[in-house]
Amino acid sequence: MPYASSYPPIAIPGDVDLWSLVFDKKNRQFPTTKEIMTSAETGRTYSWADLRSASVEFGKGLQAQWHWKKRDVLALYTPNSIDTPIVIMGTLWAGGTVSPANPLYTVDELVFQLKDSGAKALVTQLPFLETATAAAAKAGIPENRIVLIGEDRDEIGKFLHFDRIRSTGPGGAQHTKPTINPDQDLAFLVYSSGTTGLPKGVCLSHLNMVSNVLQSDYVEGSQWLPHGGPDGKGDKHLGVLPFFHIYGLTCAVLSSLYAGWHLVVIYMARFDMEKLLQAIQAYRITVTYVPPPIILAFGKHPLVDKYDLTSLKVLHSGAAPLTRELTETVWNRLKIPVKQGFGLSETSPVTHCQRVEDWAKFMGSVGKLYPNMEAKIVDESGQEVAEDEAGELWVKGPNVFKGYLNNPERTREAFSPDGYFMTGDIVRRDKHGNYYCVDRLKELIKYKGFPVPPAELEGVLVGHPDVADACVIGIDDPSQATEVPRAYVVLRQGVAASEAKARELGDWVSTRVAPHKKLRGGIRFVDQVPKSASGKILRRLMRDQVRKESRAA
Ligand code: AMP
Repeated sequence: MPYASSYPPIAIPGDVDLWSLVFDKKNRQFPTTKEIMTSAETGRTYSWADLRSASVEFGKGLQAQWHWKKRDVLALYTPNSIDTPIVIMGTLWAGGTVSPANPLYTVDELVFQLKDSGAKALVTQLPFLETATAAAAKAGIPENRIVLIGEDRDEIGKFLHFDRIRSTGPGGAQHTKPTINPDQDLAFLVYSSGTTGLPKGVCLSHLNMVSNVLQSDYVEGSQWLPHGGPDGKGDKHLGVLPFFHIYGLTCAVLSSLYAGWHLVVIYMARFDMEKLLQAIQAYRITVTYVPPPIILAFGKHPLVDKYDLTSLKVLHSGAAPLTRELTETVWNRLKIPVKQGFGLSETSPVTHCQRVEDWAKFMGSVGKLYPNMEAKIVDESGQEVAEDEAGELWVKGPNVFKGYLNNPERTREAFSPDGYFMTGDIVRRDKHGNYYCVDRLKELIKYKGFPVPPAELEGVLVGHPDVADACVIGIDDPSQATEVPRAYVVLRQGVAASEAKARELGDWVSTRVAPHKKLRGGIRFVDQVPKSASGKILRRLMRDQVRKESRAA
């Protein structure tokens, strides 16, 4: 029997789009003047009413400037900014779809996403303009459709600041919010490699996103002081998770806005622990969502002792495995509970989450299944395993994606014959309904929470003239609480393996991919990589072999 959620079903309206869910909320318990977003660097702030009107202005501006139509795609290529949520909500208001990309992507990585998503405009910030412009040119997006956000508010040459787009919006009564079909119209197009292969566009409808915000609010929102109140008290949430990843989009932006938390947005082109600690102290942050390497830093980084973190009520970890030991280390040092959640791009993303009262009782668990979801845990033949036994997690629910963009074959492969999304993650469930992540069946590697598709790195490696074949797998690096990608390379006949060759190949990859995809686990030379009869690289076999060897060493 499939497992139902331990929570009672919640009401998820089928006729409400994401913009309306956030801004037309009927039981909003805070004044519209409440400060809803502040930039940690500049102190620039939006009240809830400002945010709402700015997003409508941006949406109208899109229509006025570029005749924005329903389903037009706007790509984001920017680190976190307090203007990002306005761009997102404004695009949704105008009926568009947002496709966020990692701002450290190389030109080619960005071109792939721009072309595949069919993006019509690109939003970025000044330091990223050079790559953005090069990619836009290759993808056929004209320069006058590149929009700048952030603190540099002047127009730079032919590029528009988003304030200019907003100012073109307000006048026109002809600009209206189109009717959205929440089940059919896409709110986001995020990119994930899924269980295999290269990145694919994950189609997330308004209904998917509305569901996940409401599911999260039911399980989590009610635990905090969400609504502030006229005296301005209430939870303060540090928006450090990247808004270009679904974890950041849903947990840091949408759920936070919906609950009415005060979101303090921190801009980081690269992660900086001191900046994060400064912001927690300065703004008396009460809650933040982070990946495990930041939990590690809370547990071990020497700078932590220099800051007053007593405002923090809870840390939430997700996006990659968190060990019990790390949770204990943070508690022993700071007396701050660390709870955990789990999910995937394809599930908008959260499927499981611990409530704060469970963090110590069920340490190491990713929590219970979200309401309105069903799950199966199955063996290799698709048969359900017994309670407490490990198997692949399959899920069903309103937050499960529509499919991969223009890819019916991969979409078909992602679902079981009885309609479950097959996650490729191995989990077990205890008798109380808590789930524990055990392993990964799929080939995806996660570096500090960022996805690294091995097939992409193998493609880059075999593009080197000396490489005959390559297999990339994830290796655990407990010192950083992450996996790191490692390549097993077969050299062409006559090419000698050496440290210099390994360095050369490492540099070859580093100059062609975003920094999180670098081969930090090193390069090993082998005579062959394991393959199936059909020629498929058996990455899992390789990974199990390496694990066995490292245990024996
Ligand atoms: P993404 O699509 O980038 O969000 O990656 C989804 C994958 O991240 C999942 O399929 C898991 O393999 C992994 N993941 C997410 N949360 C956790 C967690 N709490 N523990 C272990 N793995 C996780």
